[in-house]
Amino acid sequence: MEKYLEGLKNCNLCEWKCGVNRLEGETGVCGIGKPKIATAALHPAPPQSYTIFLCGCNFKCLGCQNWTIAHYPKTETRSLGFIAPEKMAEEAVEQLNSSRGNFISADRIFFSGGSPTPSLPYIEKIVEEARKIQQVKVNYDTNGFMTHDSLKRILHFVSSITFDIKAFSEEIHRSLTGAPSGPVLRNAKYVAENALNQLWEFRYMLIPEINEEDVKPLAKFFAEINPHIPLNFLAFRPNFVLEKYKGATQEKMEMAVKTAKDTGLKNVDWSGQVGLKGKISEVKALEYTKQGARLAGGIAKEHGCITHPRNCGICDLKLSCPIKSHTAARTT
Ligand code: SF4
Ligand code: SF4
Repeated sequence: MEKYLEGLKNCNLCEWKCGVNRLEGETGVCGIGKPKIATAALHPAPPQSYTIFLCGCNFKCLGCQNWTIAHYPKTETRSLGFIAPEKMAEEAVEQLNSSRGNFISADRIFFSGGSPTPSLPYIEKIVEEARKIQQVKVNYDTNGFMTHDSLKRILHFVSSITFDIKAFSEEIHRSLTGAPSGPVLRNAKYVAENALNQLWEFRYMLIPEINEEDVKPLAKFFAEINPHIPLNFLAFRPNFVLEKYKGATQEKMEMAVKTAKDTGLKNVDWSGQVGLKGKISEVKALEYTKQGARLAGGIAKEHGCITHPRNCGICDLKLSCPIKSHTAARTT
């Protein structure tokens, strides 16, 4: 067994703190054993990079934009499997230095998923091997649900972080992802206060009528730390369990930017495709008080989620979770 994977024998990499032995067939909320790579290729979206998508995720987001990668082990057959870190590092550096890499100005290895955090020791080893060849930059794309120790490990090697926040309030965050927002906000605050020079941007995917009411409190939270914190709103693209849900309109994106700027934040923008067709669901879960959480919770319930407020950490369904097992028509 590779020495650098030893921590997986008692996995506490993320805030679920499952404490399972992932090398002996036990699985926690993420369901991942030994880390595996879903895909790896040059990617032109900023920051331009050689992007390595790791299989699996510790969240079960209803609107997952990458569900064919995130819902490991269901999607394992389509993955590249475990690739030796030395080999992966060599390939990454070679691609960054290739003519296409130069053409798109790719200057870093970008780790994404799913969530890369359940694969953290593997990522550290790939970075270590890559930097033996060349002093490459590294971006870490996260949902923010790592432990404080994991965050400090990540900050030790990254050049940049792209940090997704799904919702601000506990209720809406839980209804959308199955996880609490507290650890995410704690980590966001730590990055904003201690590692702003490593932050590429915070990202917030705006889902009509579900997490719109959290825009103002989130922006206020950041504005009070530092008005120059970069925040980008991403237009929701209907996908996964929310495949038939409505996309965000340009008007809503502009309104989110205005709301954020009104709190004092200066570096706010939006991106993504707007106006995608779909329907706002009418099913509501009354276990929640916020309108957005009632909507998302209702959809989760309709698709078989059994704990409300959603809490994947205490749920018995684990790998047989009906949300995790959902299959959407859209596969990108
Ligand atoms: S969910 Fe988090 S703590 Fe649990 S096994 Fe996966 S990475 Fe480890
Ligand atoms: S059924 Fe359980 S594991 Fe699946 S999303 Fe709901 S709370 Fe999480």
